Amino acid sequence: KGDGRGTFRFFAPEMDRRLQERQRLVQDLRSALARGELVLHYQPYVSAETGAVSGCEALLRWQHPERGMISPADFIPVAEQSGLIIPIGAWVLEEACREAVRWPAEQRVSVNISPVQFRNRELPRTILTALTRAGLSSSRLEIEVTETVLIDDVEAALDTLRQIRALGVRVALDDFGTGYSSLSYLRSFPFDKVKIDRSFVQELPTRRDNQVIVQAIRDMARGLGMSVTAEGVETCEQADRLRQSGCEELQGYLYSRPKPAGDLEFRYSLAPKLAVQTRAG
Ligand code: C2E
Ligand code: MG
Ligand code: MG
Ligand code: MG
Repeated sequence: KGDGRGTFRFFAPEMDRRLQERQRLVQDLRSALARGELVLHYQPYVSAETGAVSGCEALLRWQHPERGMISPADFIPVAEQSGLIIPIGAWVLEEACREAVRWPAEQRVSVNISPVQFRNRELPRTILTALTRAGLSSSRLEIEVTETVLIDDVEAALDTLRQIRALGVRVALDDFGTGYSSLSYLRSFPFDKVKIDRSFVQELPTRRDNQVIVQAIRDMARGLGMSVTAEGVETCEQADRLRQSGCEELQGYLYSRPKPAGDLEFRYSLAPKLAVQTRAG
């Protein structure tokens, strides 16, 4: 008994500190939206054949007054646990649609949707509201979801996906290959596009098995009528391999890092001068 208490006393202050820290982050996040501290950066994805930009992915950034730029990996989980992801996600959709109406008509905007948002029954309506307010054609919006949205309630997930696609909005499966999923998921759900996870792309030139996996994903996706985008492309060699495997679209630092909307370009060279290396050196 004495031991248990001792352990408890030892850990309590640390846990207390973390809990307080987290609560402060939730408080800050609650006011962040109203204070205009949340901004969207955009990262283009380009046609593997021509280098023309086919669209840009909106990526959320938090410019915290004291802590500086906080990455989504650090605050999206907090937003999900606190429920704040619902209003924040609605803002992201509206903001991204408002931005995209200014782009050339052949370019889409892609918006990441968290599993918590996806399970919210209002999502299709929220999407429609964002499109209507911005005056953006639904065919120019694409949402990105990960496999985790599919696992717990397959029927509900299918229903939501169908409602969203009925609006004319495209749906992409993000980070493909990292989750539980598998090929059977692809067959059962109506995705327009599959994004091959960065982890496969990164090791492409050094690991032959990755080339095989990429090829298999691409062949299967094509068989099911879906297009394939590779994320995290950093080198020309990776881009070449992906092009050879038949990936339609490429995205990554090789072409562009995520940037404020004002800094976007509309076309990228097919053989960019090793952008990543240049920056480092
Ligand atoms: P994601 O949707 O898979 O986005 C790709 C991430 O990889 C982005 O990180 C992007 O900056 C990074 N990336 C792109 N190209 C390269 C590359 O060539 N090399 C490397 N090393 N990284 C690259 P970011 O912006 O930090 O976002 C991380 C994740 O946070 C996103 O992963 C997405 O799941 C989530 N996220 C971002 N914005 C939102 C949002 O508005 N709503 C929701 N629910 N989630 C978001
Ligand atoms: Mg994404
Ligand atoms: Mg991704
Ligand atoms: Mg990813």
